[in-house]
Amino acid sequence: MSLLTFRFAPSPNGELHLGHAYSALLNQKLAKETGGRMLLRIEDIDLTRCTPEFEQDIYRDLDWLGIEWEKPVRRQSEHFADYEAALRTLVDAKLVYPAFMSRGEIRAHIAERETAGRPWPRDPDGAPLYPGLDKALSRRERQRRIDDSEPFAWRLDVEKALAALPTKELSWQEAADETLDRFDTVTAAPLAWGDVILARKEVPTSYHLSVVVDDALQGVSHVVRGRDLYLATAIQRLLQEHLGLPAPLYFHHGLIEGPDGRKLSKSNRDTGIRTLWESGATPADIRRMIRLD
Ligand code: GLU
Repeated sequence: MSLLTFRFAPSPNGELHLGHAYSALLNQKLAKETGGRMLLRIEDIDLTRCTPEFEQDIYRDLDWLGIEWEKPVRRQSEHFADYEAALRTLVDAKLVYPAFMSRGEIRAHIAERETAGRPWPRDPDGAPLYPGLDKALSRRERQRRIDDSEPFAWRLDVEKALAALPTKELSWQEAADETLDRFDTVTAAPLAWGDVILARKEVPTSYHLSVVVDDALQGVSHVVRGRDLYLATAIQRLLQEHLGLPAPLYFHHGLIEGPDGRKLSKSNRDTGIRTLWESGATPADIRRMIRLD
């Protein structure tokens, strides 16, 4: 049997906080307990928000916490060609379409419907679903607009992609708890997200696309990450099916809450690893704070 493979996959767009520390340490603990591998992946596809400084901080903070990871690290910004190839597969299968509506046009369209008294459907994160009007464009019209250099994003036709699955059903295996002893089957509901963006002009891939490509390429057997990504797994499973990628096992751990009971964010300075470090906390203190000692 091949080794179990875990990964921690932060984006270098801010300071790591206690929630990241928990995720990284839990992945390392599981890798150690199972004699498996521990990978670190830098998810830096958004070149406008990710910086080399934040990336260096990630290495330093993780090192300070006592995390050890395999080298070399996979940095997503060095692998756009891999994501492009995956996107091509979906374009050829006609499961994605060029979506031309600008943010302003989307907003106006939705506002118009909502003033007519119909609430517009929202995704699990609260963002309005894409109207999907472009799906009706003819091939000629699409080509004309692309040739005219109109900006567009590639969006996944989720309904079509789901209907194209041989079983028309989609699920994943979710660990009942962090012992990873028992897994339950969870039915995936990708339609809840609407037609998500898989690539844009300025970022020629997306979180969903690059994460499934990399988890497969790196042989990740167990995706252990925060509960905030639980429902997003539905889209990732749909992509894995259409790209012929194996489905990892999943465990979405509970989120560490801030003192105010709210989800931690990268702008919440007092729970930042670096801030705690500089104010005299030790790695053992951090472990105690997140109850992983
Ligand atoms: N890069 C993502 C984040 O920082 C995590 C991706 C994942 O674990 O699937 O939130």
